[in-house]
Amino acid sequence: MDTLRKIFQKSNIDAQVLYDEPLARRTSFRIGGPADVFVLPRNTGALAAVMRAARDAGTPMAVLGGGANVLASDAGFRGVVVCTSLMDAVELVPSDAGSAILRAGAGAPVTALVRAALARGLAGIEFAAGLPGSAGGAAYMNARCYDREMADILASVDFLDANLEPATMAPERGEWAYKRTPFMPGGRLEGSTIVGASFRLELGDASALAARAAELEADRRAKGHFDYPCAGSMFKNDRRFGRPTGKILDELGFRGRKIGGAMVSPKHANIFVNAGGARASDMLALVRAAQAAARERFGFELEPEVVLLGEFQ
Ligand SMILES: Cc1cc2nc3c(=O)[nH]c(=O)nc-3n(C[C@H](O)[C@H](O)[C@H](O)COP(=O)(O)OP(=O)(O)OC[C@H]3O[C@@H](n4cnc5c(N)ncnc54)[C@H](O)[C@@H]3O)c2cc1C
Repeated sequence: MDTLRKIFQKSNIDAQVLYDEPLARRTSFRIGGPADVFVLPRNTGALAAVMRAARDAGTPMAVLGGGANVLASDAGFRGVVVCTSLMDAVELVPSDAGSAILRAGAGAPVTALVRAALARGLAGIEFAAGLPGSAGGAAYMNARCYDREMADILASVDFLDANLEPATMAPERGEWAYKRTPFMPGGRLEGSTIVGASFRLELGDASALAARAAELEADRRAKGHFDYPCAGSMFKNDRRFGRPTGKILDELGFRGRKIGGAMVSPKHANIFVNAGGARASDMLALVRAAQAAARERFGFELEPEVVLLGEFQ
């Protein structure tokens, strides 16, 4: 790690470099110990240079966007966390009459994309109003809400492949499904890093779009999304279970259940929150308890949607 510190200190890579950065500051759960090195590249070239240096030094690496879907270990991360937050350019490119392409750097907040589209009366992305996280994270996760998902509007995704070569792909149905993308473990593009995403938008009715976005944001607030630090839904839904995971956890009496500072939201049983001073170990214990209860009572295997970062016992 010292070698890597020296490399970053001496090099002129266009990036902000922090050492022993608490991941609790960088994740929406507000949980997590320090990352040895936390790097925020300002452009794709810098991102590639950082990753090449870490790879050549044999240092473990992880990618973070907005940190809105990650549970970071209490021990933090022994290696380099590369965060895309400073790669946040947003550009609207008119295409055919009545339509436009919204180009975003991987780190651009989804809320900024929604704002840019609404300001020009462009429709398509308003379903994501109030969705925390970055464009790259939303593309990686195929984030979905209110019956729409990112794959519905993604025109293309720019990325560095596992060899750090730049590439572009157009999402295809089949590879992109419910909470599934080719960038995830086991996918064709595993190990790639998304550097930008382009979204297809259509001209719409500006005031109707603004009203829809406001309605969805209000719905999120009413469901308690912003009452406590959290990462949205803890588990995926699974059609085979015949009902949403939140309903299953309600039936199991998990609403309001607490372990240490980790709590199941009193308003929505599939949202696990940091009720104050939660440790990652508390959160994971609550996750395991919910999984065990669902397995025992219904024979269901609840699959976490939230991604673990760092080492867990
Ligand atoms: C209050 C709240 C409400 C939420 N509601 C929803 C919802 O309605 N629907 C929904 O789908 N999600 C929801 N979420 C979860 C979260 O908003 C999404 O999963 C979001 O897309 C995560 O983006 P991120 O940038 O924060 O990703 P991160 O949390 O930073 O990362 C998530 C995963 O993506 C990977 N990743 C991130 N950026 C890149 C990149 N550039 N290249 C390669 N891999 C990358 C990370 O390595 C990690 O594995 C909610 C979260 C919160 C806090």
